[in-house]
Amino acid sequence: MFRQPKVSKIYCDQTNLELGFIGKTEAIIATIAKHKQEVASLASEMAGQSDGSGIENSQILLEILNKIHDIAEQGGVYCSCGNTDVDVDVLVDAVELSCPQCEGRLLISAKDEQALARLSAMEVLEIAPLRRTSRK
Ligand SMILES: [Zn+2]
Repeated sequence: MFRQPKVSKIYCDQTNLELGFIGKTEAIIATIAKHKQEVASLASEMAGQSDGSGIENSQILLEILNKIHDIAEQGGVYCSCGNTDVDVDVLVDAVELSCPQCEGRLLISAKDEQALARLSAMEVLEIAPLRRTSRK
């Protein structure tokens, strides 16, 4: 029995413009879009450095974020507990999706071209609830 995702009214902090009613999926997309900008500016910063290390990685990370963005737009990012309010964390060589409701996590590698190819073949990203093998 799944509840309908809640709809929230979002205001832009900077311009105070009403962006309208958006659902959880849009919230994920907005979060990813924000991360994409950060990664893109990071990538261009690194491109200006002499050794050039890390550029390739951040480009793959950017592609990975693009792909997750696409999947989220199709409503394909959710947790198997029924929650669609998914948190997005961008790490150095991975993107972590997590569910605040059941603490489920999905780590998407952004290490190399293979990781990107694997993600490209996916249509949904379903977070699995954290399995506890032992109780503390
Ligand atoms: Zn969950």
